[in-house]
Amino acid sequence: MDKIITQMIYLDYAAATPVSSAALEAMTSYFHEDFFNPSAPYQAAKKIKLDYQSAKQKLAQSIGAKASDIIITSGATESNNLALGVLKNFAKSDSSDLPEILILATEHPSVSKSALNSGFKVQFIKVQPDGLIDLADFKAKLSPHTIFVSVALVNNEIGAIQPLAKLAELIRQERKSRLIASNLLPLYFHTDASQAPNLLDLNVARLGVDLLTLSSAKVYGPKGVGLLYFSRDLKLSPIILGGGQELGLRSGTENVPGVIGFATALSAAQSKINSHRRQVEQLSQLFRQEILNSPIKPLFLGSTKHQLSSFCPLSFPGLDAERLIYKLEAKEIYLSTGSACAASKGQISVTLSSIGLSPEEIAGSLRITFGAPTTKEEVKAAAHAIIQAVQEELKRINS
Ligand code: PMP
Repeated sequence: MDKIITQMIYLDYAAATPVSSAALEAMTSYFHEDFFNPSAPYQAAKKIKLDYQSAKQKLAQSIGAKASDIIITSGATESNNLALGVLKNFAKSDSSDLPEILILATEHPSVSKSALNSGFKVQFIKVQPDGLIDLADFKAKLSPHTIFVSVALVNNEIGAIQPLAKLAELIRQERKSRLIASNLLPLYFHTDASQAPNLLDLNVARLGVDLLTLSSAKVYGPKGVGLLYFSRDLKLSPIILGGGQELGLRSGTENVPGVIGFATALSAAQSKINSHRRQVEQLSQLFRQEILNSPIKPLFLGSTKHQLSSFCPLSFPGLDAERLIYKLEAKEIYLSTGSACAASKGQISVTLSSIGLSPEEIAGSLRITFGAPTTKEEVKAAAHAIIQAVQEELKRINS
């Protein structure tokens, strides 16, 4: 991965990744000489259509699916909305046996708000203090009325990796009992895997999911592109109507350069997961060591055992994380407080409150995420700047 040419130290890869040179290069011609609308009738446009289809094929291969099983979207937000749109095909009844949606308490708002907007009853599955799903709570809530389950493969604030295959097995058992009981209610399993592709296997059969969301912007591809995988026996309802592109499920002229860049980036990321894991594990250990060897004593959030190795969320209870962020920004060190989305709107992070942090611990929390361009020198420099900023803040508060 290419180095970003500036003095800055960027440690917010969970929020956005730079576009890789390979993705940028693959996209470039589709902005000018190969700009044709893939639906146009002439040969030059037909070639673009073929290129687009093979990029979709490449995306599908990266997750062990077929091109006809994926819909291109504008990103994970749209994919999550489209995934929950599968429920539009089910009439809501007024009976007490109303179908229910189960989502993890820590889901991204594009899942939780879509679920709450669906008109179905929504149940939130609890998480443990390390951010992992509370399996007992999941088992208790999974019932003959459950129609949709959504659990993100990796949480975007603390990087907790959820045991999807285990959940898929429980869902299979529930489906079996429905067959025996002649209960015809379907049960769909969706995952938002947006944070996972640089470090985890995304094979949909191994994950055991019916629907999977990805965003190009988190995988060194361009922003404004994403995908939704859906298993073939599932009937999606379009949320964007028009010319009938993407199997009629998402109309609008195809974002050819975006999809070419996304496909290049995703397949590169999936082919490098092992070496990337080794790289970020070393960086994470180095960072934690530098902090632990210093006089400041943060609370490291989550458990490294079930955490994406690029994540290092931590909290300085009693300090104001925003003040720390601005101090670091003045030194061109960029990181985030809790979730970038929640933080920018002054909202309390759902994930951090769900794992049981106190308001003080939440207010003092930083999210550091490493990426492919991150170096050991950057990690050391950032750790030292954080230590200094925390010490200055402690001094200011106690003086
Ligand atoms: N889901 C998760 C887990 C995310 O981290 C994000 C980005 N913060 C989104 C959804 C939204 O992605 P997009 O901006 O591609 O719509």
